[in-house]
This record gives sequence, C-alpha cells and structure tokens, in this order.
Amino acid sequence: MIPGPIEFHPKVIEALGQPTLSHTDPAFINSFGNALYMMRKVWLAPTGQPFVIAGSGTLAMDMAACNLIESGDRALVVSTGYFGQRYADLLKRYGADVTILEAAVGEVVTPQQVEAVLDKGNFKLMTFTHVDTSTAVLMDAKAMGELGQKHDVLTVLDGVCSVAGEEIRQQEWGLDVVITASQKAIGVPPGLALMVASQKAIKTWNNRKTPVGNYYCDWANWFPIMQAYENGNPSYFATPAVNLIQALEVSLALMLEEGMDARFERHKKLAAEFRKAMADMGLEIIPKKEEIAANTLTAPYYPEGVNGGEFIGKVNQEGVVIAGGLLGSIKSQYFRVGHMGIVSQEHIDTTVKAIQVALGK
Ligand SMILES: *Cc1c(COP(=O)(O)O)cnc(C)c1O
Repeated sequence: MIPGPIEFHPKVIEALGQPTLSHTDPAFINSFGNALYMMRKVWLAPTGQPFVIAGSGTLAMDMAACNLIESGDRALVVSTGYFGQRYADLLKRYGADVTILEAAVGEVVTPQQVEAVLDKGNFKLMTFTHVDTSTAVLMDAKAMGELGQKHDVLTVLDGVCSVAGEEIRQQEWGLDVVITASQKAIGVPPGLALMVASQKAIKTWNNRKTPVGNYYCDWANWFPIMQAYENGNPSYFATPAVNLIQALEVSLALMLEEGMDARFERHKKLAAEFRKAMADMGLEIIPKKEEIAANTLTAPYYPEGVNGGEFIGKVNQEGVVIAGGLLGSIKSQYFRVGHMGIVSQEHIDTTVKAIQVALGK
C-alpha cells in the first residue's frame, strides 16, 4: 500500500514472466501497437501521440521538458510539493527561465493565482503535479487545461501519481502532455516512462529552432518508432523493454475492461472511505480540504507522541507495507498510504485494521 510500486494483477506478472521475444517478433509488434492504441483510450486523448520508453517517471518528465523547451523559454512550475521542485530543477537544465508558484503545505495553487501569473506572462509552458505524492494534494487538472488553452501556454501534467487513478480527460480538458510511469496506477512493475502528447505539443516540437538537448529522449528518435509499431512494422532506435511492454498491454486491457469512468469512481469511493477511517481514528491528513484530497493516496499526520519508524514497522508486522513522509519540511511527521490500481475494498479494510492495531500497540 505504498504510492508505487503498487500491487500488480496476476495476469500482469504472468506477462512479465514470459520468455523474452525479439523486439521484431510479430507477436511483440502486435502487443506494442496494441498498447499504444489503448493508451489513447486510457488517457482519453483520441488524437494524441503516445510514447513508451524504458525508464522511470522522472525520465517522462525529462522527455516532455527537453522536447518542448528551448534555451530562454519561459516556464511556469505550479508546485504542490516535492515533485514541483524537481520539475523546476529539470527545466533549468534545458535553459528555461523558470518561475515557481508554490502552494503552502496542504494547499493547492488556485486557478486564480495561476491566471494572475500567466497574465504577466509570455510563458511557453507550464507544469503542474496532478497529485503530489509527497502531500497527497490534488490539483484541478480541468481548470489548468482551460487556463493553458486560454493563454496559449502548453500544459504539462505530471500524472505519475494520478494517470489511470484520478479522472483525466486529456483532450477534452485541453492538456498538452500527460506523463506517468508504469509502477503507479498504471499497474505494471517499474521501468516504463509513459506519456501522451497533443498535436499542438508535437507541432511546437516540430517548429523548434534549436536541436533537442537530450539524445535519448528526442522525439525525433522515438516518433517514427511509435508510428511504425502502431502500423504493425518493426523499427529500431533503442531496444524496447519487451516484457514490460507486454505487461503494459495486459494492464491497459484490464483497465478498459473495467471502463475508465468506473475506474475513476472506484478510486474516489475507496479513497473517501479510507480518509473517513483516518478521521474516525482522530488522524489529520495533510490536504486542508476534502475537495483537494487525492484519490490515489492519503497522507495522515502521526498522532502526538507516535514514533514514525516504529509505527510503520508495526503496520508492517500486520502484513501491510506503507510509506513514510517525503516532503523535507515535515518528513518525520506523517506517513503515506497508496490506494491505486487494482486496490479493492479488502485492501482498504486490511490496511485500516493494521493501522488501528499498530496505533493500539
Ligand atoms: C513517483 C513520482 C515521480 C517520479 O517517478 P519515478 O518513477 O520515481 O522517477 C514524479 N512525479 C510524481 C507525481 C510521482 O508520484
């Protein structure tokens, strides 16, 4: 029950354990093409361009930044915790002129605050973390997409802790790049960086005046590969993570079988139940209001006098693995429980019970 790597469906693990095919084997070409096709449905981006490369979520952040930023471009980072700061550092490596708009701990940056900065503007791109995994705060992705459209600023949604768990309608909401990684709500072991880019983002990249400052991540290297596999042809730039991509195909198919709306609802329902259980035990959570509390993880403060390490150890003894704090300024004061992917009522009940027992001890 940590915010990634999560628990995986047995069918996903089974796909991962198959003998590794050649990356030009017709069966693999079919799996890869199918995975790309299904990503558009999971991201709800019918005309978006999916990319799958070997790496973690940070590499997906890197890929979005290096392809869209040229030295001197202005970028706005809307930060609600740990991963906002990472995006600011990353963008600076590509010469971006970065402005950070940072929320107080447990708060979001409101659309009004974002708009006030965009008005002063000339920003090329803005990034925001949909669910910051260090605070469990949820940003309003729809409002951010609308602001990006209104101000003609590209929006990059760091959805590593939200895609396939929180409601995201990429195309309808006007979001340009939505990134994630395999090990969180996507439900595949760590090792894949994933994203879908809008046609506007692809056009911006096409119109660059300077070369992309990152060789491995350059869309020029990957765009033809994704197109070839989706058209049923083998192609090579760098060896794809064959088994992980086959596992991704299985996981995406399971999601579409459930249906995205049903999946969003299941996450909402179980998260609300978990938060209620925490409140009933007298535990306060980091997000200051229910409306900005994430549905993929919860971050409660320890009660007065509880030693964090000891508490997590005792929860572990009950057979449940949870995570400690991540945000520097309050790291030792709270813990984190992930509830995404194949999370079920049973997972929630077992976890609540384990926390109760550990607190009792
Ligand atoms: C986990 C996470 C990342 C980083 O992903 P890695 O796979 O660890 O590189 C980035 N952003 C958010 C919101 C995350 O939850």
